[in-house]
Parts: sequence; structure tokens; C-alpha cells
Amino acid sequence: MGRGGLRVICAHCRRPLKRPAARIGRLCFGPVCARSLGLLAPPSVRHAVCDVRYRVERDERTPDLFAGVAA
Ligand SMILES: [Zn+2]
Repeated sequence: MGRGGLRVICAHCRRPLKRPAARIGRLCFGPVCARSLGLLAPPSVRHAVCDVRYRVERDERTPDLFAGVAA
């Protein structure tokens, strides 16, 4: 069984991820965090209401997290 050594955690909430939904450099993010951080585009306009809910979850630490990462 192949790659047992890989352990991916969400860079935002530090939860273990089976599949990162988004990546920035070496940082991986789960689907919920990626969306709340604006890394994932909403799937369609119909989901705009959900997207608003995710944005509300943003916290003030978010800019710091990306301050050293974003080019
Ligand atoms: Zn997360």
C-alpha cells in the first residue's frame, strides 16, 4: 500500500485532510476553510447564499495567515 507517510493537515484549522481542496505552496486547506478563505470559487450562482455564510466565518487571523504566503 503506497504512500502511508503523507499526512496532510489543513493550514487553517489544522484538521487532518484526506484530500486538500486547495493548496497554496505547501499549505493545504480543507473544503470548508478553502471556501471561507476565498480560495474556491462558488460552484454556481445558485450557491451564493451558502457562500455568504462561509464569508461570515472569516476571522481576523486570516490576513495574517496569508501575509507571508501570497505573492
Ligand atoms: Zn480547515
